[in-house]
Amino acid sequence: MPREVRIDHGMGSIVLGWKSSEDGLFLRIRGQTQDVRVVCLCSRSHWIVRENFSGDGASLVLTCHHCGNRGTFLMEGVSLPAP
Ligand SMILES: [Zn+2]
Repeated sequence: MPREVRIDHGMGSIVLGWKSSEDGLFLRIRGQTQDVRVVCLCSRSHWIVRENFSGDGASLVLTCHHCGNRGTFLMEGVSLPAP
């Protein structure tokens, strides 16, 4: 069983990387030895992922495929696109 984090508990975590798979969306979170699967309040784990770059840094915006619930994570160590 993969570790899981609920979207509303995961916010505030620093994400170092992410990958989408058949089993859902997995995040590599700073301080965690193992990737965690992000689960929505509706218990689904399939997300529309958008990487957001701004002057303050990068963030990962997730929108649930099923219910439209959204969550935002900060990203670190992700290279910014060329200006
Ligand atoms: Zn949902």
